Formats: sequence, C-alpha cells, structure tokens
Amino acid sequence: MDSMDYKTAQLHLETSKLMGVDFIPIGATHTNQDKQSLLDELHVDHDASCPHCTNATGHTNTVFGNGNPDAALMFIGEAPGMEEDLQGVPFVGAAGKKLEQIIEAMGLRRTDVYIANTLKSRPPDNRTPTPDEVAACGPYLKLQVEIISPSVIVTLGSPASKYILDTTVGITRLRGTWGTYNGIPVMPTFHPAYLLRNYTNETRSQVWSDMKQVIENMSL
Ligand code: URA
Repeated sequence: MDSMDYKTAQLHLETSKLMGVDFIPIGATHTNQDKQSLLDELHVDHDASCPHCTNATGHTNTVFGNGNPDAALMFIGEAPGMEEDLQGVPFVGAAGKKLEQIIEAMGLRRTDVYIANTLKSRPPDNRTPTPDEVAACGPYLKLQVEIISPSVIVTLGSPASKYILDTTVGITRLRGTWGTYNGIPVMPTFHPAYLLRNYTNETRSQVWSDMKQVIENMSL
C-alpha cells in the first residue's frame, strides 16, 4: 500500500464528511500488512497535523494505539494517562492491567485485539477530554477504525462511547446495550479505571455481562 492510497482514503473521508457520510471503505479488502502500513502512515500524519495533539501542552509522547492491525475486536478508551504518556503505549498503567485481565478472561490475548484512545495525547492533569479536543483528534480514531475494520468495538467509558455512538447519553445508561458505528456493533462498557475506583460485585458483574455479549457476538 503506497502513500497515495492513504491520501486517497483521507480524501474520501473528507468528501464523505462533507456529504454527511462518515465512512470510507478501505478496511475490508486489505491484508494485515496493508493495514499496518496504513496505520503507520496515519500515525505519522497524525503526529504532524492533529489539531489537538500538535497544540496540547505538557504531553511527552503521543499515544497512537497498538495491537493486531487485523483485529476482530477493538477497544477504545479515553486518553493516555501518565504511564501511557511516558511510554507512548495505550493502557499500560493500572487501568491497562485491569483491561488486560478482562481481555484474558474473554479467552483472548492483548496481542489479538487493537487498543486505541479517543484522544492521542494526555490532557493536562488527566482531566476529562473536552468536546473541542475530541472533535479535533477524534477523526484520526475514525480513520483507525476504518483501516482496522473490526467486527466488534468495545468503548470504554463516557467520552469514547459518546463520540463513537454520536450521543450525549452517559455511560451508566449506555452500557450493556449494543449500538452501531458504520455498521460495526459497538458495546459500551465502564472504563477499567472507573471499575478500579468502584470495585464492587455489581460493577464487576456489569462489565463481565457486557463482555459476555461481546464474546457471543464474535462467535456468531
Ligand atoms: N485510560 C485510557 O482511557 N486510556 C489509556 O491509554 C490509559 C488509561
């Protein structure tokens, strides 16, 4: 896949957005290698031109995402925290350990799935992303989704769920109920950091029940 294809894909996205269609059909027919090349090009382009990440102050590294470029399952979190900012890798802190446990409990390995965030650079003081930041950085996430073309997306917490499902409804009401993004089933669930802060039988059963629905959907 040469850079012309990536540029064409971007142009498609821009044109589609103008037409009110948030979709570019670049994922389905590409091999694992093609997808990795497209992701690498998107990564370079993002770091050079993302309106949020080129201006965000105080971050050390951008955190683009990682995992299997051909993953059937994609997790989308909120934004990098301190550890992720230092390492440039998503979900490597305490919430990341919990996410890995969840993935393993689903019978998968972290390397089987793809993990990305709504924002690719750490908001100051780990605050919740603002709508402006999400609007600026989010389109790169949507391009990532188009390239990976997963069978199922799990959104972790409110900002990712609201952005991908284009809703203002909060995570407490959204979780556990399927939505769709460009025809891809989306399961919103609690963010692992929320789960760690509220580690009760109820929240653990809720997240597990959401993940069981994901496993069932993927085995169809
Ligand atoms: N929380 C997130 O939402 N993303 C990370 O990468 C780490 C913590």
